Amino acid sequence: MDINAFLSKAIIEFEKWYENDEHRNNINAYDGKITKEYIESLTNNEFVDFFYEFVSEGGKIQSGGYRTKNLFREYLESNLESFKNFILEPFSNNFNFDNWFNRINEFNYFGIGIATIYLNRINKDIYSVLNNKTLKALREIGYNISLTKNLKNYKEVNEIQIKFTKTYSFIDDLYKADALNHFLIGTDKGKQLLRDNIYKEFIDDNFEQDEIIEEIVEDKELQDQTKLKKLITDNQKSKKETIEINLKTYKRHNYLMALIKKYRKYTCQFCSTTILKENGEYYIEACHIKAKSDGGKDSLDNILILCPNCHKLFDYGKKEKIKHTKEIYSVRINGKDYKAEM
Ligand SMILES: [Zn+2]
Repeated sequence: MDINAFLSKAIIEFEKWYENDEHRNNINAYDGKITKEYIESLTNNEFVDFFYEFVSEGGKIQSGGYRTKNLFREYLESNLESFKNFILEPFSNNFNFDNWFNRINEFNYFGIGIATIYLNRINKDIYSVLNNKTLKALREIGYNISLTKNLKNYKEVNEIQIKFTKTYSFIDDLYKADALNHFLIGTDKGKQLLRDNIYKEFIDDNFEQDEIIEEIVEDKELQDQTKLKKLITDNQKSKKETIEINLKTYKRHNYLMALIKKYRKYTCQFCSTTILKENGEYYIEACHIKAKSDGGKDSLDNILILCPNCHKLFDYGKKEKIKHTKEIYSVRINGKDYKAEM
């Protein structure tokens, strides 16, 4: 997926949304309050009230911890000193970020989401917000990142978002970089953009695969299944991103998918359907068993050739009893069994 092309487009819509959303007003919600001086000036009662409020309203960035706010208050009252020290640590000159991050979970009801929001409120040019939305959004944009809120992923998010601030003038700090995630995951317009993008990529790839098939279909070498299979396995190993066929450059991924479609005789591996087009060619789709974003490979044993119906069934249905070997893939989807030779 072309991440930059998507972002350039998405940020135009994000900008329009941002100007009219409360995110815009909340950017300065704690101005003058999340500072060393202010926090140190609070009495114990005021300190408890302040952080009770901060956690309840999710730092005005994420939805608040309404269900646990009273438990947090009780916890805070009986662990006041250690929590206060922890809260003030980021202001010290020898602040050790990694160490602080790894200790967040020592404090009950104060999770990584709200803790990183707190840091972002201290300095929105340095600290990223890391919550479920952050990871989900970056993943859907096309970054290969897991959904675990840990130090490694924090650093990756931070690096990506700092790059955003340098690339896109509207994203001038990490508060706005986080608001972009909210826009993409939490608003109808943003969700639509993500869906359109995935769909567009699928259409573009399918189109390219059709073009490649037109180019290679007459190739004598490929009429022999054994030779075709060898060509597929040889190409799986190639590290090159592109391939040239008859003076035109294609994505190697699409070349491989075209070869696999031919190898499977353009026939759905689940229901044996073929779809003949008016021009004499066949329509069929390639589907990854293990998604690329989960580390799945473009290889014969990770690709199913499916008709559009079975493809959507595979994507959206309830999958059980999966058996996947080099020879066979079988699965029960919505109560019905499917089996494909690999
Ligand atoms: Zn089918």
